[in-house]
Amino acid sequence: MRIAVDGPAGAGKSTISKAVAERLGYIYIDTGAMYRSVGLAALDAGLEPRSERDVSGILDDIEIDIKNGDDGQSFYLNGENVTERIREPKVSMAASSVAVIPAVRLKLVELQRRLAEKADVVMDGRDIGTYVLPDAELKIFLTADAAERARRRCAELIAKGETADPAVVEAEIKARDKNDSEREFAPLRKADDAVLVDTTDMSIEQVINTILELADKRR
Ligand code: C5P
Repeated sequence: MRIAVDGPAGAGKSTISKAVAERLGYIYIDTGAMYRSVGLAALDAGLEPRSERDVSGILDDIEIDIKNGDDGQSFYLNGENVTERIREPKVSMAASSVAVIPAVRLKLVELQRRLAEKADVVMDGRDIGTYVLPDAELKIFLTADAAERARRRCAELIAKGETADPAVVEAEIKARDKNDSEREFAPLRKADDAVLVDTTDMSIEQVINTILELADKRR
């Protein structure tokens, strides 16, 4: 069984997908972390993440490894543990910029499809239901009001001891959604057969249960 979870930035995709995977005993695959790793590689190399020529030039040298440990999943970029660094706000926009480049997407989509062949998965991203796993047994499109998504992202940053200005975070989220929805190759879009779940007024537990019920019916 493959569960695809797509939606805009800050809709709670990773929190929800991780919890659903845990309850079902499935593997959780965070595809955003892969785009973040490529974005970080571009920044570390001093490149402009929007430059198709520059980023394509380093793609063959980028190796991404995912390790499942007791404390969750860790991401390695060319051997370096980048699990924390890929969450830095500047990496979010760099990820969205490199995600426009078809060569980047093709490389990561291949990795994603390979991972989904091996096990039951919950995979979250932007194009999972439309492009990566068009035959997924269950597709969810998770969304929430932009202001609510910004509020949640701020709470996350503050919990990590960082400062966050809700207006700045909301502007960043909207810029990313625009970039992700307007790109030509595999844009952020609800698949026709995806179930829309608006989480604005839902608790995390309610969202998890909604998805578990849907999964139960499709198994
Ligand atoms: O989900 P997350 O916010 O970590 O994703 C970071 C960025 O990676 C997104 O803004 C998007 O541009 C890109 N992405 C994508 N396709 C995916 C997952 C993420 O384009 N399947």
